Amino acid sequence: MMKHYLLTPGPTPIPPEVALKEALPILHHRTSEFGAIYKDVAEGLEYVFQTRNKVYMFAASGTGAMEMAVVNLLSPGDEVIVASCGNFGDRWMKIAQGYGVKVISVSVEWGKVVKPAEIEKVLKENPNIKAVFTTFTETSTGVVNDIRIVGEIVSKTNAVLVVDAISGLVGQEFRTDDWKVDIVVAGSQKGFMLAPGLAFITLSDKAWKLVETSKIPKFYFDIKKYRKSYTINETPFTPPVTLIVALKESIRLIKERGLENMWNDYKLLAKAARAGMKALRLELFGEVPCEVVTSVFVPVEIGDKIVKTLREKYGVSIAGGQGDLKGKIIRFAHMGYIGKADLLVGFACLEMVLVELGVKIEKGKAVAAAEEVLLNV
Ligand SMILES: *Cc1c(COP(=O)(O)O)cnc(C)c1O
Repeated sequence: MMKHYLLTPGPTPIPPEVALKEALPILHHRTSEFGAIYKDVAEGLEYVFQTRNKVYMFAASGTGAMEMAVVNLLSPGDEVIVASCGNFGDRWMKIAQGYGVKVISVSVEWGKVVKPAEIEKVLKENPNIKAVFTTFTETSTGVVNDIRIVGEIVSKTNAVLVVDAISGLVGQEFRTDDWKVDIVVAGSQKGFMLAPGLAFITLSDKAWKLVETSKIPKFYFDIKKYRKSYTINETPFTPPVTLIVALKESIRLIKERGLENMWNDYKLLAKAARAGMKALRLELFGEVPCEVVTSVFVPVEIGDKIVKTLREKYGVSIAGGQGDLKGKIIRFAHMGYIGKADLLVGFACLEMVLVELGVKIEKGKAVAAAEEVLLNV
């Protein structure tokens, strides 16, 4: 028996109030009882996404919501921009190309943030571009892109802006309407503090116009079906009833704390995490660190060993690097149901593991540095 701490960038821990809802008997989804919950949740999502548009939900992981955006907006042969700065940005490219869409890549090296000026330039040179796809918090590297600036640029063109906010929503300031984002996708297992399996998407009027012209074949992912069912508080196919019932509780918790307070809570945790890493002389990876996950370089190629030892010996799960960063960085998440105490536990155990792996550090320094930040607010 070992107590587990989930400090990974998804899935994230679930508050007991939410977990209890996940354990309730299943409701039938074509009932007024479920309809009332669905309506309540759908409206709550508008607050979380900071939009006046409707937010649709369906059974899928976050990638399913990404695919939904691509298949509903585009036709084979369309030209789009993908502004990627990591593994998840690259996923936009793979999905689009998989459907025969022509991708102009405005990507940067992993660890950097996307360049709005570059996007602006490519949009000017290619007036036929239908959409710009990018990522809010790039979980694979730990950076955050300036979506507000990209929104300013894209909104002046005929293209729509599609943002993957799967890991950043709830954890860091994100304003769909104010930042002029046309499509936002998210998933249940990160900031929302739910089990995996529920995906979200919201679309602006400008995006709906593009939906009308889309010729990529689709059935389950046809967003028009969801729009139609929404009017009677239903989904076209069986929704993950359990997750939607639990989401009502999770949205209640988010509203109770307030979105802006939550953003500030994670900002503080991120600051403490960066201070802890600095005290261990682990250099931050990434040009503009986000507030939901902290990525740092680790001594040559022991990243995976650190992750494995932390989990097996202390029950603490963090993440290693993806792709070329495998073994080279570790990613310590502070998203979802994570508090100050979890962060301190994570750092205490990380210190022990580093000592065990022969890294020269002074025990207690990271914990002290994190405490210093947490005490001085
Ligand atoms: C987790 C994540 C995804 C993928 O979500 P799945 O639920 O694993 O499909 C996509 N983008 C970002 C930024 C993520 O953090």
